[in-house]
Amino acid sequence: MDLNRTFSMTVNGAALAGAETMDVINPATGEVCTNAPQASKTQVDEAIACARSAFSQWKTTTIEERQSLVKQAARILEANIEELAQILLLEHGRPLQGCMMELQAAIQYFDDFAAMTPEVLVTEDSDVRRVEVHYEPLGVVCAIPAWNFPITLSAMKICPALVAGNTLVLRPSPTTSLTLLRIGELLRDVFPAGVFNVISGNGLGSFLTSHSGFDKISYTGSTETGKQVMAAGADSLRRMTLELGGNDAAIVLPDVDIEKVAPQIFFGAFFNSAQICVATKRLYIHADIYEPLRDALHQIAKASKMGDGSEPDTVLGPIQNQRQYRSVSALLEHAQKEGLTLLTGYQPENQEGYFIPATLVDNPPHDSRVVTEEAFGPILPLIKFDNEDDLIQQVNSSKYGLAGAIWAQDTQKAVTLAKRMDTGTVWINENLYLPASTPFGGHKQSGIGVENGMAGLLGFMQQKAIYIPK
Ligand code: NAD
Repeated sequence: MDLNRTFSMTVNGAALAGAETMDVINPATGEVCTNAPQASKTQVDEAIACARSAFSQWKTTTIEERQSLVKQAARILEANIEELAQILLLEHGRPLQGCMMELQAAIQYFDDFAAMTPEVLVTEDSDVRRVEVHYEPLGVVCAIPAWNFPITLSAMKICPALVAGNTLVLRPSPTTSLTLLRIGELLRDVFPAGVFNVISGNGLGSFLTSHSGFDKISYTGSTETGKQVMAAGADSLRRMTLELGGNDAAIVLPDVDIEKVAPQIFFGAFFNSAQICVATKRLYIHADIYEPLRDALHQIAKASKMGDGSEPDTVLGPIQNQRQYRSVSALLEHAQKEGLTLLTGYQPENQEGYFIPATLVDNPPHDSRVVTEEAFGPILPLIKFDNEDDLIQQVNSSKYGLAGAIWAQDTQKAVTLAKRMDTGTVWINENLYLPASTPFGGHKQSGIGVENGMAGLLGFMQQKAIYIPK
């Protein structure tokens, strides 16, 4: 991929160079590969002012017009998917096939949200009156996605926000700005000027989330930062959706076919080098099958090549950024110091990039940090269970409640267990599937509000009840 080009921000339908630049690091080498615009606070003000000005016209368009433009955007992304995947590979480190998967999923979000229409709700239709609940856009939305799936996480914000009639300022995570800047460039002529703005830069988070020019913050990131975002919005009671951290448990019942489920469980835990909010981060295995499943997973970990995503046989890429690399490394070192048994996977040859081998932790104590904390990297504790009540108590002991999975042949039993899990999503015999049709959000400290589904779309709207006399 030739990155010998300048990426620009998109503000008011036009290119905007940064006031300065910021380095872009290739995580597979740890070296600077190019740079991206660094917006100044004045430029952020400008982007928000343009979005505000565009809102007055955009909100008067019909939902059909907006849906049609979102669909048009999908076709443009589709036509440029190869280029976008190459940029994503370089800045993210994930192998090309995984980058393509993310972009295809993002395009699907564009198409699916373009087909969603909130209906007017009639809550009373009596001899005295008719009561109609209408939905209106909120205004200017600030979208702040995390870096692990920068494009799909952004699509989950861009599409409903625009379909609902809001304008938007997207600020990608500073370590994954390029692909989204390119998407801004590609969509410049699709939406009216000022409707879809993309700015980039380090150190802008709290400036954005406390900015009085926004009517809604749609934020995806860690629980700790989410609390700061919430505090920043308190003075104006700004609307917000917070999609936050998770320490997702998966349960494996003794009736599974180990050979069949082991690769699926491995994928659900380690795809994207385990940097997925809904990845399996604690694996509870029934005692009857603990050893054979542990050994099967270890074999897969050893056989899954970790390396530079641009090499064709790479399965697992590096950790995306240095801050996360240090955080996961520290957790691993702590586990080593505690004397836990670590079963290590494929050892990457490259020592320069942000690589940490896929690592299974063999039945650690339940209060060890590898179990209680969200690693957000390739460390998976395997925990043996034989009593279902104890199991559920352990599964629900986390402050998080994002997602979970159950692997079982007896799906009725799995549904019974799923109902006892304190999480927003539970998959049975599958994992990581988040369609636009279905609300996704966390229980407990995993978030507030939902994305996706009609509820996610309505999260970008305000309701108005009109009482019409008869
Ligand atoms: P993070 O909270 O450190 O950063 C996320 C984003 O917030 C980045 O764009 C960052 O620049 C920005 N930011 C940083 N400080 C800010 C502030 N004070 N105000 C506003 N924005 C600020 O999170 P991270 O480490 O980049 O991402 C990993 C976390 O995100 C994990 O906990 C993971 O589970 C979570 N996540 C959740 C979901 C979900 O849908 N629930 C999806 C992906 C990731």
